[in-house]
Amino acid sequence: MTPGRPVPPPLGKPLVVSEETADPAPSAPAAAQGPPTLAAAYGATSALSGLVPLTVARRAPKEDDVEIEIDFCGLCHSDVHATRGEWGAQSYPLVPGHEIVGRVRSVGSAVDDFAPGDLVGVGCLVDSCRECGSCLEGLEQYCERGNVGTYGVKDARNGDSVTQGGYSTSVVVDRRFVLRVPEALDPAAAAPLLCAGITTYSPLRYFDVEDGDVVGVVGLGGLGHMAVKIAKAMGAHVVVFTTSEAKFEAAIELGADDVILSKDPEAMEGANRSIDVIIDTVAAPHDLNPYFRTLRLNGALFQLGLPPTDMPPVSPGALIRRRLSYAGSLIGGIAETQEMLDFCAEHGIVSDVEVVTARQLNEAYDRMVAGDVKYRFVLDTKTLQPASEKADV
Ligand SMILES: [Zn+2]
Ligand SMILES: [Zn+2]
Repeated sequence: MTPGRPVPPPLGKPLVVSEETADPAPSAPAAAQGPPTLAAAYGATSALSGLVPLTVARRAPKEDDVEIEIDFCGLCHSDVHATRGEWGAQSYPLVPGHEIVGRVRSVGSAVDDFAPGDLVGVGCLVDSCRECGSCLEGLEQYCERGNVGTYGVKDARNGDSVTQGGYSTSVVVDRRFVLRVPEALDPAAAAPLLCAGITTYSPLRYFDVEDGDVVGVVGLGGLGHMAVKIAKAMGAHVVVFTTSEAKFEAAIELGADDVILSKDPEAMEGANRSIDVIIDTVAAPHDLNPYFRTLRLNGALFQLGLPPTDMPPVSPGALIRRRLSYAGSLIGGIAETQEMLDFCAEHGIVSDVEVVTARQLNEAYDRMVAGDVKYRFVLDTKTLQPASEKADV
């Protein structure tokens, strides 16, 4: 980390602005070039339906589009919340999935940076306004007009149709939001990098974690296990906090240098002033004050989980006395996601995954909610039923 600079500036890698993106009317929808393709999918038809076979209409690629044949899609906890309507009103039918890896099937006439056969990925975003301050800084996830999520969001550039995600055999995405997946990475195990990977990589990079820094990771699930691997690769000494002694061995196997039982006050006291930055991945409400006491001067705690109800209050004194930062962070921009994928390829990092078939999706959701997964489920889209002759959505 950079002493005295606990919150360094963002990476700020803007999207490449070509003559075409500088067009005075970039949001004008280009004419579709043909009929949509019907793709097999799995999704929810209501908050209570569970996941069922569906057929989704994918638009014919426009000039800037990339049509992707999906091979794998990771199962993120957000998918469970969204399909079950736990995050508010949802448009159904809804095909979830934003950890997409596959190969390019075809490209639009203006696409010269991707070609059929390329291994590519799509994460949590498929568009943004491309004009606001955040977008121009390459921070599309923080688009001031709201980013266009990969599923369940109205897509203004495509007739306000609701986006449908990656539990499907194909998807069509603007080239600016398509990532290049290095061939060195196993495609199934690389899929979770597109959400779990970038969500933990971005705050670690923002905090400039480097050799010798001490990184704490709270929670050892899909996000937590990626945080351990990525922080280790950045050269950090990694300390895992867990409420379960049963997870000690798993934490060490993942590369953690130390494990602390967070419900043991003595163990927490022993970690006083020992950590530079904490990546907190727990989505249930929990008391952060014991964690603040483990941070050194200028330390920071990044909260990545989004609890459904209020958290216990944070003690201002704990922050003030050590000039601590209590921060949040949301996935990452497109340039940073590409940087993360290249970093993972360079360091041989992928997610620990269990590949499931379409028929196992509902069981996988229940197991995810129960915390019974090491550490990410990934759908093999070859197990999807054939598409029907009429689109459900
Ligand atoms: Zn996710
Ligand atoms: Zn924007």
